Amino acid sequence: MAGSNAQRALDALDGRDVATGPPADPETARRLEIVAANLGATLASLEGLLSDVWGEIRDNPEAVRVLAETKVAARKKYKGQVPPFWEEVAECPACGPVYVPPGAQWLATVGCPWCPVRARLGAVPAAARAAKASEGE
Ligand SMILES: [Zn+2]
Repeated sequence: MAGSNAQRALDALDGRDVATGPPADPETARRLEIVAANLGATLASLEGLLSDVWGEIRDNPEAVRVLAETKVAARKKYKGQVPPFWEEVAECPACGPVYVPPGAQWLATVGCPWCPVRARLGAVPAAARAAKASEGE
């Protein structure tokens, strides 16, 4: 039983915030519920999704939104799905043309978001393969 209680005690000794549950401020809690609803989740499931950092970020709804969206997008990728709004096309040397988040076309040469997915799944998911990026624009 060296489970979460022992870990929480160690975290507390390290000075890490191990708070759980909704934030004390009702306005912040209300904003977090909106963030959760926009992701099709509940506040409790949002806390579960971000449990490793919840105590440190729960009072910052924007940070919660960004982290939750990033984590949800990562999970979708490994299920072979293209996250919402990934509509730009980048040419990865290893994956070929793939859909990437807005403004991330330059990422393809230094950190393609599909390379780790390709390594895990054995291929670029069909949904992520784009036609060649349009030329001459
Ligand atoms: Zn790639």
